Amino acid sequence: MKPHIRTKTQFDFADIPEATAFEAGYLVSVNSGWRSIRPVIDPARCIGCEQCYLYCPDGVISVQEGKAVIDYDFCKGCGICAKICKAGAIGMEAERK
Ligand code: SF4
Ligand code: SF4
Repeated sequence: MKPHIRTKTQFDFADIPEATAFEAGYLVSVNSGWRSIRPVIDPARCIGCEQCYLYCPDGVISVQEGKAVIDYDFCKGCGICAKICKAGAIGMEAERK
């Protein structure tokens, strides 16, 4: 059987959307109810490198005016952003009701 061969597509950096879930409306419900820990950004340490934005699996991080901003309505609290941040600008804190 022949393997499926994908067509190579060329694209520029400008073709990549600002965030993977650019319109939060693509997700149907706010999930903050089941998150037990949340990432908290220290703006003083954030250097705007966009690594957290690139690695966040839910696309809920954007970089605004050189600082990372998290959409807590759709962040699931996985902590990947905190692991990837070399500047140590993201800490995970317990959710408070
Ligand atoms: S990875 Fe860290 S330093 Fe880079 S934009 Fe995100 S929070 Fe800021
Ligand atoms: S904790 Fe996970 S879902 Fe939330 S902003 Fe960080 S990487 Fe994205």
